[in-house]
Amino acid sequence: MQGPTSRSFEVLRFSILDECNFSCVYCVEDVRRSAPDFVPARILLSYVEKLLTQLKLKTIRITGGEPTLHPELLEIISGLRTMGVADIRMTTNGHTLSRVIDRAVQNGLGSVNISLDAVSKNAFATMSRVRDGEGVISGIDSSIALGIPVKLNCVVMRGLNDAEIVPLTQFARERGIIIRFLEVMNMGPLYGKSHSFLMPESEIVQRISETEGYAERLIRDANSTTNYYRTRKGQIFGVIANYSDPFCGDCNRLRLDSKGNVYGCLSSASRENLAGADLNGLLDRALARKQNHFLGSETSMKAIGG
Ligand code: SAM
Ligand code: SF4
Repeated sequence: MQGPTSRSFEVLRFSILDECNFSCVYCVEDVRRSAPDFVPARILLSYVEKLLTQLKLKTIRITGGEPTLHPELLEIISGLRTMGVADIRMTTNGHTLSRVIDRAVQNGLGSVNISLDAVSKNAFATMSRVRDGEGVISGIDSSIALGIPVKLNCVVMRGLNDAEIVPLTQFARERGIIIRFLEVMNMGPLYGKSHSFLMPESEIVQRISETEGYAERLIRDANSTTNYYRTRKGQIFGVIANYSDPFCGDCNRLRLDSKGNVYGCLSSASRENLAGADLNGLLDRALARKQNHFLGSETSMKAIGG
């Protein structure tokens, strides 16, 4: 029997671990890493099994931390497929992606979003606090070679990587894939101070229009978080403008972390654990927590998964 919330959450973002091999400046405070603590695939899958008793989830996006670091990533993907999840996606920093992407696709992964904040080595190191970004490029190219949909995501921070907007747009065009630029969010280490780094949608679009030809805005699909544009050269790119053009009203996403905590809203730090909870009540409360405007939170995306 489907509960009253069953139509309201169609997408689950599932953070399968909170470990990462990068330390992006907008996501974590510093480069300190804790000892890896992987929750086994069978436990992670049991959370989803429980949610599926009440929700008709159309899409599950696997995220993290860095999901490719989970030693049972392939089992998690095939377990989701066995449960009947038709659309399985993943968001990754791409660094170790080329090692697993072909088996992940064989096991049921349908598409991948890869984060890339810079083409130049210096800006890449500034943003990720990691020297070598070569693995990311080969992760992108091996995913494209498999023929699955691949998108790039770039978080733009004024003064740190805004000079990368045009080179990244050209990088995506050369590969025939879509890039989306994210306005930096008021979360984690940037909570309360993100504004000085914010590059609004209008400026991102203007930068691209100046070199790539005027970019016209396309119609936004219902439930899409992205405003898409087409340049005069015919290239389509996107902007996720949580500040300039909030999409909270359209949000149909539920978030689940590796400890079984459920979040109804990125902007609300409050969460509830699946263990022992009355699921219908938990989902109703998660739905009630949705906000109409993104306020931000001290919680890092590394735990919640973006
Ligand atoms: N490690 C993977 C990655 O980076 O793609 C997956 C997890 S990461 C938390 C998911 C997404 O959150 C990434 O695209 C990242 O750029 C984004 N993100 C993290 N902190 C952010 C912030 N303060 N503002 C905007 N986007 C952020
Ligand atoms: Fe890691 Fe992704 Fe956070 Fe960067 S944004 S530190 S890659 S979890």
